[in-house]
Amino acid sequence: MPELPEVETIRSSLEPGLTGRRLVRVEIRDPRLTRPLPPEAVSAELTGERVAGVRRRGKYLIVEFESGRHLLVHLRMTGTVLHPAPEGREDDTHVRAVVRLDDGSDVVYRDVRRFGTWELLEPGELEGYFEARRLGREPLERGFTTASLAAALAGRRLPVKAALLDQRAAAGIGNIYADEALWYARVHPLAPAGALAADEVAALRDGIRKALRLGIRRQGATLRDYRGADGSRGSMQDEFHVYGREGEPCNRCGTPIAKTRVAGRGTWYCPACQQPV
Ligand SMILES: [Zn+2]
Repeated sequence: MPELPEVETIRSSLEPGLTGRRLVRVEIRDPRLTRPLPPEAVSAELTGERVAGVRRRGKYLIVEFESGRHLLVHLRMTGTVLHPAPEGREDDTHVRAVVRLDDGSDVVYRDVRRFGTWELLEPGELEGYFEARRLGREPLERGFTTASLAAALAGRRLPVKAALLDQRAAAGIGNIYADEALWYARVHPLAPAGALAADEVAALRDGIRKALRLGIRRQGATLRDYRGADGSRGSMQDEFHVYGREGEPCNRCGTPIAKTRVAGRGTWYCPACQQPV
């Protein structure tokens, strides 16, 4: 599932080719993408819009239009956005939408599992949309401080990993980067979120940023479906310290990496470096 580094990789490679372009034809092939709205209604609204920029908030890709509207794309499990369109896409049954731009190029939205969503917001609706979903701070922005993370975790009794996954403490972290961040911070994934000491919260804040920045530098992690907008694979999977490494030695202490489950998700950690509270 694409997390902040994967979405950011897609965003940065889409932006130069999309900015300033007008949408001349919008073909939405899968009604699940826009429901409850019918795809014809959404494509009619999008046609003629000119792209002002491509942004990201958490795991949302945001296409900003000159009209002030925003198209929010959430890739969920297996969504990808490709531009320019790859060869052979006519035979690709996983293509859910094709957008023709005024330079003649196509943007292709591909999604194997079909959980991705497109939502068109009217001018002024964006901030309220994220507030209503209690989306936390952007972890790579200046406002994401130890104090802000401590405030977001205070009083919460759920495991710290579950708190990272629910997007309120910080936006954009999923299963991979949560495990990697907790390893950097030497914090056990099952530690109650509100019980972390001040120095552990500081280490977690730094660990989150370290894991996400490395993910962006490696252009994301390609485990199965994820590709950058130009079709390229990421290489973050070669940098994992714990994720998916059960039984392999910890890169810090040599202890075999252990696996457990937190919030229903496979969770990897070093039982020596990350002691339970
Ligand atoms: Zn270790």
